[in-house]
Parts: sequence; structure tokens; C-alpha cells
Amino acid sequence: MTETQTIAIQRTAASRLAEVDFATVPFGKVFADHMFVADFRNGEWKNLRIIPFGHLPMSPATPAIHYGQAIFEGMKAFRGGSGEINLFRPLDNWKRLNISAERMCLAQVPEEIFMDGLTALITLDRQWVPNTPGGSLYIRPFLFSADEYIGIRPSENFTFMIINCPVGPYYSTPVKVCIETHYTRAVAGGTGYAKAGGNYGGAIYPAKLAQDKGYHQLIWTDGKNHEYIEESGTMNVMFVMDGVLVTPALSDSILAGITRDSVLKLARHWGMKTEERKVSVNELLAALKEKRVQEAFGAGTAATIAPIELIGFEGTDYYLPPVSERPFSGRVLREMDAIKRGQQPDPFGWIHKV
Ligand SMILES: *Cc1c(COP(=O)(O)O)cnc(C)c1O
Repeated sequence: MTETQTIAIQRTAASRLAEVDFATVPFGKVFADHMFVADFRNGEWKNLRIIPFGHLPMSPATPAIHYGQAIFEGMKAFRGGSGEINLFRPLDNWKRLNISAERMCLAQVPEEIFMDGLTALITLDRQWVPNTPGGSLYIRPFLFSADEYIGIRPSENFTFMIINCPVGPYYSTPVKVCIETHYTRAVAGGTGYAKAGGNYGGAIYPAKLAQDKGYHQLIWTDGKNHEYIEESGTMNVMFVMDGVLVTPALSDSILAGITRDSVLKLARHWGMKTEERKVSVNELLAALKEKRVQEAFGAGTAATIAPIELIGFEGTDYYLPPVSERPFSGRVLREMDAIKRGQQPDPFGWIHKV
């Protein structure tokens, strides 16, 4: 154990809080007053600090820019019943950050630095956690190489940071998705299980082509034969088929979502049958044709549950039942929201109070 390092705090001289309307704030464009920064130099983390949100001084040679040696996390904080702030499963995000870090040859971030930095930042910017209905604070921890070297190798210097965005109610309108059978998000042996920047940069072009055809998102399939379902956009994908909650089993080409895991745990808690296994495109299409798919949705931090309205495959659109007729999605969304906001007991120990 390293000794607890103190976090130096430099407060902003001009808070922007009064300019923000939490009821109408757009996703990801408005940032809380402060940010957390830590430097990894000569084999250790140092210079832990909270400073006003602002631009970064960085070398144009940083490998984060050239080679994508950069990873991120996404999580949320909510107002609890009596004004306290509830973080949802933050230690799971910390663990996943380090899984991504290992794959990308970045330094591990100790639990203490992640949690102490997060806690100090949220405490300082508590007023930025919306108390409006449906609002939350989106938290973006990220880690990148800070070397000044344009050779390709494991880096020696890193920067770990946390920035935060207040977000309003996020009601996902049902999405139209299309099964992708040419482009690939992640391959076996690749980096799909890591929240590594390049995975997302490379997914934008195929998603744009689908959007040009009227779909919102892609359903990604495996990179080998495009035979098996993997994810939906940047969310995990889940189906209720013949009354069973079915989702692709985790692999190195699927991101292990914390929402996915929470949905599975709640379903099992309620006595619902769940299956984590390979789901082939053929199986899904057959079930869609026979009207055996009761529900389909994406699962991820931003929306929690993003209901899928229809699934396109080779020019044919297969419609799912209306959202009002999807009891499982509705229940899981309400239950998770109530747990996050402290309106319901937390049987799984998911909430970390600040
Ligand atoms: C972040 C992410 C998810 C969802 O993870 P959560 O922890 O539930 O937010 C799913 N798929 C991909 C590709 C992701 O990047």
C-alpha cells in the first residue's frame, strides 16, 4: 500500500453553474466547473490535483494522439432521497479501467487514486449533480499516454483524469437498428473488451452509412463470419425470447457492460430465466419471423435501456412489439432508476454514497 496522497485543490474563480439549466442541458457538451488530474512519472502516480475545467497543455508528439493509447470509462452519479449523492457501482468502473489499461499497455490506476479523486471532485462540484427529475451527472474518467515520443512502444508517462457533465432526463426513443454483415467493431484477439478510443473511432463510419439508410445504430456481428450477434452500437444487446432473457456471452470482442450485468442480476433476482450464450443471426431472424421476440434493447450507462423498435437485415425490417407491451424492459428501467436514486432498497450493494 502506498501512502494516501493529498489532492491539491485549485478552485475556479468563476463558476459557470448559474448559466446551466439542468432541464434542457444537452448530453456531453456542458462540463462541471472542475476536473481531476493525476500524473504517472518515473513509475509512480503523483501531483494529484483538482483544477478548473479547461484545456490541456500537451506535446504534439503524445502517443495518445498518434496511436490511440487512450482509454475511458463512463458512469453516473445521482441525487439520493435526502440530497446525498449516489455513485452507481464505481468500483466496477475502476476494475474495468484497469482491464482496458492492461490491454493497451497503460499504467494501472490504484483504487485509492480513482476513488479518492472521484470523491473529492464530486464533493467539490456537488451542485453540478442535477436535482431535477431524471437528471444525473455523467462521469468520464480517462487515461492516456503522456510520453513525448513518436515511436511505437509501451509508454512510460501517463495522465489520468476525470471530467463530469450534468445530463437531463434521457428517455431513449425506440431505436431502429440494422444487422451489420460487412464492417466489424471488434475481432477475436482484438481490443473490443477494452474501452479503447480506437474501437469507437472506427465504428463511426459504418454507423454513419447505416444512418444514411434511416437506421439509428448497428447491431454488430462477429468479425469472422458475421454469424453471431455481439452488441448494439456502443451498448450491450439483450432480448426477451420465448420469455427468456438472452444476451450474447462475454468474449474478448464484447465490452462487459455494468448495465448488462445489473439487468442480468435483477432478472435472476426476480426468478426470470436468463441465458448468456452465442446468439446467431439466423436464430434471431427466425425468432423475429415467428414473433417469438417479445423485447429487444440496448443496455448501457447513458440510457440504461434503449428499446429497439425494429431490426433490419438485408433490406427487410422486422418490427418488435410496441414499447408499452414490454413488461420486462419497463420494470428493469424503473427498478434500476429507483435504486440509483435511493428510492428503493439496494439489495446488491450497488450504491456508493458521497
Ligand atoms: C461502455 C460500453 C457498453 C456499456 O457499458 P456500461 O458499463 O453498461 O455503460 C457496452 N458496449 C460498449 C462497446 C461500450 O463501450
